[in-house]
Amino acid sequence: MQKILFVSHCILNTAAKVVLFNQAAIDAEEALRMQFLAKAIGEGIQLVQLPCPEFTLYGSRRWGHCSNQFDNPFFREHCRKCLGPVIQQLREYLAHPERFQVLGIVGVDGSPSCGVDHTSEADWHGSFGGRTDLEQVLKTQRLVDKSGIFIQELKSMLAEACISEQVPVIGLFAPEAEKCMALLEK
Ligand code: SF4
Repeated sequence: MQKILFVSHCILNTAAKVVLFNQAAIDAEEALRMQFLAKAIGEGIQLVQLPCPEFTLYGSRRWGHCSNQFDNPFFREHCRKCLGPVIQQLREYLAHPERFQVLGIVGVDGSPSCGVDHTSEADWHGSFGGRTDLEQVLKTQRLVDKSGIFIQELKSMLAEACISEQVPVIGLFAPEAEKCMALLEK
């Protein structure tokens, strides 16, 4: 029996992440990522990498965004296109329970796209140039208890494929490290 876990793209490839400047948060997430991957690989769990919806739309020089900015039909459609082949892979593995055990999907809490229990919201839009309220606008960013847009679409597609109950979706989040680590105990 092979155990299979689907993970957000940057859990395996941090080069896809937006450039971050909060070193304490970077270090905490990196420590958990390493702990999580070491345990998964050590236990022989097969890891399937989801596509990164932000890198594949905006590239490596994108600004940081909030989920409100991605909450539009165009980004949601992009997420669905990325996720179509993922749902097909899940269905195939789930069709053969004598050979495969799908443990679930791990997202990245805090991300506007891949957050599961927590994502970031802010009242952001418009150009940077010529405005006098930039500092106040940037300060509207907050962590909220919702999924990011990519994970919202993923959850909808799991439901449409009638496989939600077989595929738990969990967030990797340093302040709640036990959530993703528990998935490896299944
Ligand atoms: S969109 Fe998802 S996969 Fe891409 S960098 Fe952000 S959290 Fe990682």
